[in-house]
Amino acid sequence: MVNLSRRTLLLGMAGSVLPAPALAAATQPLKVVATTGMIADAARTVGGEFVTVTALMGPGVDPHAYRQTRSDILAMTRADLTLYHGLYLEAQMEEFFDSLSRQRNVVAVAEQIPHDELLAHDEYKNQYDPHVWMDPQLWSKVVVAVRDALTNALPQNQAYFHDNTAKHLEEIAELYAYSKEVLASVPEAARILVTSHDAFNYFGRAYHYEVMGIQGISTQSEAGLTRVRDLVSILVDRGINAVFVESSVSERNTRALIEGAAARKHDVRIGGHLYSDAMGPDATYEGTYIGMIDHNVTHVARALGGEAPERGMRGLLAVGT
Ligand SMILES: [Zn+2]
Repeated sequence: MVNLSRRTLLLGMAGSVLPAPALAAATQPLKVVATTGMIADAARTVGGEFVTVTALMGPGVDPHAYRQTRSDILAMTRADLTLYHGLYLEAQMEEFFDSLSRQRNVVAVAEQIPHDELLAHDEYKNQYDPHVWMDPQLWSKVVVAVRDALTNALPQNQAYFHDNTAKHLEEIAELYAYSKEVLASVPEAARILVTSHDAFNYFGRAYHYEVMGIQGISTQSEAGLTRVRDLVSILVDRGINAVFVESSVSERNTRALIEGAAARKHDVRIGGHLYSDAMGPDATYEGTYIGMIDHNVTHVARALGGEAPERGMRGLLAVGT
């Protein structure tokens, strides 16, 4: 035992106790690394001046496929706190987080949501659908998990973190109320969201919309063609005129639907680009959690025949996107 270096001891202990750097450098901002932009946004909002936050995945990045780079690994091993989503969202990084969490302070923030509030995964047995940010009520719980992780790392700032969190939870409640209102203004028969992948199941549950994803359709295969035909029939039969594309997924499959409907003399257009697994550009309103969701619900409501202000809940949305 006596021959173990101090460094080895610290590393060995850090999994179960508070990491040393946060306490030693109380006047320095806490160095936080977050995987997705949404988690980074929560950490910045709650942590304010006491944190510096780095997001690994920028706008348009697909978290299901993302693998840590060398510089990501360096950032995470130097960080005081690493926040990731969990629920198998970062499928390619799962093993890395397992081993990192034995040495460093690592928290899977979406795992803190009670599992009976989660939806089952479409494709994997015994797993949950990770896209919880689509329901602001669930996202509130992730924000609370971020608050608790920051408070554990910097307990002297507890009051500040709790205050910022309370304000942000109010904003999220306002966003949820707005979303419910504008989405309920869509005629009942038209409350169908056709999108390019399976990110919107929590949206469907929160707002009572049917949600259909078209990811994975290969128009080269028999099964793919059947699926396209089925979806086209639904669009035609129910008079749906809008489908949606996502910022982090290709438009190709959506085009197949539009062409299929056109062949049956039914006009379908792209109702908007939705933010599914990543937020909008940095330093824009859409590049925040509130702006991302405001954008989505406002565009869905307007495209499906409901009523919503063109520039959203706060008049801040970019025009013509
Ligand atoms: Zn996704």
